Amino acid sequence: MESDEVKPETWVVVAGRPEPVPGAPLNTPLIAASTYVLGSERIYSRNEATEGWEAFEAMLGGLEGGGAVAFSSGMAACAAVLGQLPTGAHLVLVDDCYKGVAEIANAGVRTHQWRLERLSATDPLWLTRASEADLLWIESPSNPLLEVADLAAICAAPRPDGTRVVVDNTFATPLLQRPLRLGADIVVHSATKLIGGHSDLLLGAAVTADPGELALLREIRSRNGATPGMLECFLALRGARTLALRLRHAESSAQQLAARLSGHAAVVRVRYPGFGTIVSFELKDAGAADRACRATRIIRHTTSLGGTETSMERRSVHPGQEHIPPGLIRLSVGCEDLDDVWGDLDAAITAT
Ligand code: PLP
Repeated sequence: MESDEVKPETWVVVAGRPEPVPGAPLNTPLIAASTYVLGSERIYSRNEATEGWEAFEAMLGGLEGGGAVAFSSGMAACAAVLGQLPTGAHLVLVDDCYKGVAEIANAGVRTHQWRLERLSATDPLWLTRASEADLLWIESPSNPLLEVADLAAICAAPRPDGTRVVVDNTFATPLLQRPLRLGADIVVHSATKLIGGHSDLLLGAAVTADPGELALLREIRSRNGATPGMLECFLALRGARTLALRLRHAESSAQQLAARLSGHAAVVRVRYPGFGTIVSFELKDAGAADRACRATRIIRHTTSLGGTETSMERRSVHPGQEHIPPGLIRLSVGCEDLDDVWGDLDAAITAT
């Protein structure tokens, strides 16, 4: 079956399963083997796709509308894409991006003399830079200010053959946004987040509809050994089966939490783009935000996001995040009952 024959909500359930012949297992089995008996095209598990990777990649590639290459983490996927930039390249990076991506970009400035330009997600200059830069790297909604880029306009802006548009689609997931269909060249994911969905694995992926790029990404993965674990692919595919359900519940709760936070006396500002499961809100200062993060009983005080559990963190604690207001908390909304979460959050921020 092809992904466009069914709705994405169905695809995440049916994709990446063995052929339904009598006696076949329903799920792609977890194969724990680093090497294969010689004589076929499968030789060694760093080089040739294993059944477990292929099942996960089939699911994600179909969802995004391209071929997916799974990596050992989201950062490994980002590094495989950014590492293709030659010395002297002009990289335009969203200013409010995941800090690990900014660290690779800054290292590239030092080692490859990349020319790095940072733009806010909503800056109209993206359209001009499409015809001037080598790579436009957009994370939308941005992280953690949740600014939304006009992906359709940026992807449609005229650009030379060699200029790439890359979108980090971790926050939206392909159920809410499909950048390849808008004209992006590559989509990257931290599948550690919503796709895996249970905060129990690290996994990443890059997805592209360009066969040459797909082959190159596989080659880079194999060469650098940034290969995904078999257990991680198995778990991520299992997590993805409920992605649509989790997303629907968490997004509905996020919308209501954003509205309730907006009316709370202790909250200075709420940022929510209207979709997705992440809400950022500001308390009066870093101290109030830290106290709130430590006071919750249901909501977990952790970094990361996209699990079944609601979690939150003051984001400016991390180095290199000076643009983030000190009292800003990023809330990742999970699958608990909305009123339980609100009761916990309300009590924690009122106490500050
Ligand atoms: N992209 C985004 C938007 C992220 O939030 C993260 C991690 O937090 C990454 C990429 C990196 O992913 P990983 O932690 O799986 O390496």
